Amino acid sequence: MDSASTDSALTTLKTVFGFDTYRPGQREVIEHVLAGGDGLVIMPTGGGKSMCFQLPSLLREGLGVVVSPLIALMEDQVFSLKENGVRAAVLNSTLNGAEAFAVETATRQGELDLLYLSPERILQPRTLDMLRQTKLALIAIDEAHCVSQWGHDFRPEYLQLAQLAEAFPGVPRLALTATADPDTRREILLRLAMPDGRAFVGGFDRPNIRYTITERTAPRQQLLRFLASHRGESGIVYCLTRNDVEEYAAFLASNGYDAYPYHAGMDTRRRTSTQRYFQQRDGAVIVATIAFGMGVDKPDVRFVAHMNLPKSIEAYYQETGRAGRDGEPADAWMSYSLQDVILLRRFIDDGAADETRKRFEHERLNTLVGFCESPHCRREMLLRYFGDSHEGGCDNCDNCIRPPDMFDATVPAQKALSCAYRSEQRFGVMHLVDVLRGKTTEKVRRFGHENLSTFGIGGELSEKQWKSLFRQLVAGGYCDVDPRQYNAVKLNARSYDILKGRCKLQARKTVLSPAKKSQAEKPARKQPVEFDRVDAELADTLKEWRFEKATQANRPAFTIFSNRTLRALATLKPLSHEELLDVPGIGQTKAEHYGPEILDIIAKHEGK
Ligand code: ZN
Repeated sequence: MDSASTDSALTTLKTVFGFDTYRPGQREVIEHVLAGGDGLVIMPTGGGKSMCFQLPSLLREGLGVVVSPLIALMEDQVFSLKENGVRAAVLNSTLNGAEAFAVETATRQGELDLLYLSPERILQPRTLDMLRQTKLALIAIDEAHCVSQWGHDFRPEYLQLAQLAEAFPGVPRLALTATADPDTRREILLRLAMPDGRAFVGGFDRPNIRYTITERTAPRQQLLRFLASHRGESGIVYCLTRNDVEEYAAFLASNGYDAYPYHAGMDTRRRTSTQRYFQQRDGAVIVATIAFGMGVDKPDVRFVAHMNLPKSIEAYYQETGRAGRDGEPADAWMSYSLQDVILLRRFIDDGAADETRKRFEHERLNTLVGFCESPHCRREMLLRYFGDSHEGGCDNCDNCIRPPDMFDATVPAQKALSCAYRSEQRFGVMHLVDVLRGKTTEKVRRFGHENLSTFGIGGELSEKQWKSLFRQLVAGGYCDVDPRQYNAVKLNARSYDILKGRCKLQARKTVLSPAKKSQAEKPARKQPVEFDRVDAELADTLKEWRFEKATQANRPAFTIFSNRTLRALATLKPLSHEELLDVPGIGQTKAEHYGPEILDIIAKHEGK
């Protein structure tokens, strides 16, 4: 999807529904449907599931058809849609003849955006005829778990919905349900005749993603150290500026990574080809501004690295959420420094938004910085932010794997703040640290700061530790940084709470030897046990083959076979059509289509 339709989706989201941003998980589904794809959405009730078909119905040409067995729910949705000015109607057994006729007339005349139907109703020949004569935007099948014969909500008429695939070829179909375990998901896709449908599993937790947030000290070395465990894997590295994008892409390429830049300043053709390459090629790394990622359908992204703070927790969640959509282990790594906070503050202040909006943006940034500096389980904090609960101790974030040491930083914080106060709140962190550490720099002498009472009182902390403490003070709202005055540290009401001893400050100790490889930077590799006998050479050959197929078909690699299927092939090494069907991810059609070539590759490999 191009950025124009992304913009118009957000505009419609705002203008029709009044939301500025998507709820987690919605964007991926909506972009997928807008691009014409089939899919299955598993999202908790109240997670904003219906937006996934409502918004695309408005954006795609034609009528959005929604199948639901729950009359009350249909009527509620139609009502609230109408409240939002959307032309929606329901066609079910509760209508009398005249009412039904009116809805049918409106449908035929193209006067509706969304039409809700019961499964019985849509399957009536009369209804099917009517819909065949109408341009359809999409077909949404809600409560899709009703198709599962083993589930407690099974409805026989749901099995007939598979015929919609034949009746309306080319119309994207979206199945939705609040819960479905992996077996049920497979069953839904099978029974609704969506062999290539993507599964979008919502709920806000992404347990396969490991979160790591670290202080940026030597960014290039830190990035290389992080990437060392991701050699040959696909990933995205986010930078704040185009210049950084170009430089980091070149830097990674010179270190042997298959890395490419991507930003809005590049021409469309180069952007498109970079994106396509990323989707088709295993192990490609894209270094990008946030312009990259929307509409990129790639389930096997193994890492997302942020070289700077993202804009907000929502942005962080969304961007890191591009990793590991296939449910296998993935890394979300971020490095940041106080400079990022200062820069983002300036972006907000220099922006065109009104004061209320700017205050809101500052608040959002504060929340994010607080999240970064917190010693608590990252997952617990993220989920809490989205109204989900998690008991913490996830064992898959830096704070859980290696709990940070905390110390009572009240006295150092008092020294830091009083140093800012004594120098008239006109100086930035670097200079204040020099004063605290008793360094007679040229600047210290120029301002006579060696005479301040705070000069040289901070020998107990290193320069790095002082900087970290200032960052935590800013993060906690105990002082401000004024980007308009050379990033001068300013006191606020909370500063005085510290200075007057009205509150204590716990701060995280800075790791003293950043060069030491921390446990959090070790690979998040936990291969499924069944694949521990994978034949790596065969896997590589199959990957090459898949790349060829993907290129020929001009499709992302996973649409041919997922990584999981490839690994299963390289482990099980099927030698016949029947054995091929035992491999997860290979059904009759794929076995027939690709089987001969795959069996040939395996036979050659085994016979060498
Ligand atoms: Zn955790």
